[in-house]
Amino acid sequence: MRTLQEELRERDYKVNWHPYTQMKGAESIVPIVKGKGVYLYDANGKRYIDAVSSWWVTLHGHAHPYIAKKVSEQLLELEQVIFAGFTHKPAIELSERLLSLLPRNQAKVFYTDNGSTAIEVALKMAVQYYYNKGVKKQQIVAFKNAYHGDTFGAMSISGRGIWTKPFGELLFDVLFIDAPTVDNLEVTKSYLNQYIDDIACFVYEPLVQGAAGMLMHEADCLSELMSYFKSKEVLLIQDEIFVGFGRTGTLFAANQLSVKPDIMCFSKGLTGGTMPLGITTCKDEVYQAFYDNDTTKALFHGHSFTANPLACAASLASLDLLLNKETQSNIERIVEQHKMFVEKLENHPKVKSVRQCGTIFAMEWNISDETSYFSDIHKQLYPFFLERGILMRPLGNIVYLVPPYSISKEDLEYVYTCILEALSIV
Ligand SMILES: *Cc1c(COP(=O)(O)O)cnc(C)c1O
Repeated sequence: MRTLQEELRERDYKVNWHPYTQMKGAESIVPIVKGKGVYLYDANGKRYIDAVSSWWVTLHGHAHPYIAKKVSEQLLELEQVIFAGFTHKPAIELSERLLSLLPRNQAKVFYTDNGSTAIEVALKMAVQYYYNKGVKKQQIVAFKNAYHGDTFGAMSISGRGIWTKPFGELLFDVLFIDAPTVDNLEVTKSYLNQYIDDIACFVYEPLVQGAAGMLMHEADCLSELMSYFKSKEVLLIQDEIFVGFGRTGTLFAANQLSVKPDIMCFSKGLTGGTMPLGITTCKDEVYQAFYDNDTTKALFHGHSFTANPLACAASLASLDLLLNKETQSNIERIVEQHKMFVEKLENHPKVKSVRQCGTIFAMEWNISDETSYFSDIHKQLYPFFLERGILMRPLGNIVYLVPPYSISKEDLEYVYTCILEALSIV
C-alpha cells in the first residue's frame, strides 16, 4: 500500500511545476497537510519547525485562529469587488491604519497582490512622476545583488546572475552601486554625479538584502546615501517587502533611518503571511503629480485582485496581533536569543561570518570555494535540517533564520543546537 505521503508526491510530480526548482530529480518534494503555529506537518505526520516563515511571510504562525476568524467573517460579507469605481471598508481601514504607522510623509496607498507588482507600481510612479512634470529622467539606481522580485521590471532592477541570464537584453539598464559603507560612500557619490541629471529613482532593500544572502549594512550609511539622493531630487523607493512588519526589530526598517523615503513597498508579512497582497505607498507630492484634469496623467495600472477584501481583513487582523504586547515581547526575546547565539558562533572555526539584524540571523559557512547559491553545502544542509524536523533553506553556504514571532524559546534553542551539530559534522 502506498502511503498518503507517497501518493501526494507522485500526483504532485505529474502535474505541478515548482518555483526555483530544477524539476529533474525533484521527486522528494514534501506534501504538507497541516500547519499549526510554528509547525508544519507532512502527510506522514512528521512535524517541522518553520524556521524561515515559509519564504519570510508567516509572522504569527500557521493557521492562526484569530486571522482565520476575521477572514472567514469577511468571506461571508464580501469576498471580492472591483476596486476601480468601487471601494470597501477593509481597504479603507487598512490604509488608514498603515499610514498611521509609516513615516509621516506617506500619504496614499496603492494596492496590488504581491511583492513584485508592488515594485512595478513603485517604478511606474517614479518614472511617470517625472514624465507628468515634463522632466526627462528615466534612469534607475539599485544595489548590486539586489532582489526586488521576478517580473520583468523587478528583475531588471535586481542583481544580474544565473537567474536573469536567459533574458539578456530584454532587461532594461540600471545603474548598480555597492551597498553603503563608511569607506565607499564618497566613491559612490562621485560615480553617481556623472549621471545624476538622468536619475529618476533609487530603489533599495533597507538594512538587509534578503535574497542576496541576508547581507546587512549600517542604518547611518544608508541614511547618508538617501540624503545625498534627496538633495539631487532622486525619488527614494524603499522596498520593505521582506524587512517590514517587525523583522528588523522595529516595526519598519524606516524607524531606524533618519531620512524618509518617497515611496514604500510592502507584501510578505503584510497579511501575516496568510494571503497574497501588495501595497505601494507614496508621499503626497508624488500623488499630486498624477492628480490633474488631464486623464492621461492617471496611473494606468491595476490587477484583478487589487485590494482583495479578504487579504485586507487578514492584514488588519495581523496588525492587531503584531502590535499586541505578547508579540512585541516575543520579538524582543528573539532578538536577545539571536544575540547570544551570534556571540557563541563568532569565533567558531567553521564560521566565516555571522550577523544579525533584529529577528533575522545569518551565518556564512567557511568553505574554500566561492559563495554560491548552488554550493554543495546547501545540498547537504537542507536535508540535514529536514531530518531533524526543521525547515531551513540555506542560500548557498549562508544559513539563516527568519522565524515566525510566535516561535518558543525552546524551539529556537533547538534550532540553534541543530546548527551547532551541523557545524560539527557537515
Ligand atoms: C520577496 C521579495 C520581493 C518580491 O515579492 P514577491 O511577492 O515574491 O513577488 C521583492 N522585494 C524583496 C526585498 C523581497 O524579499
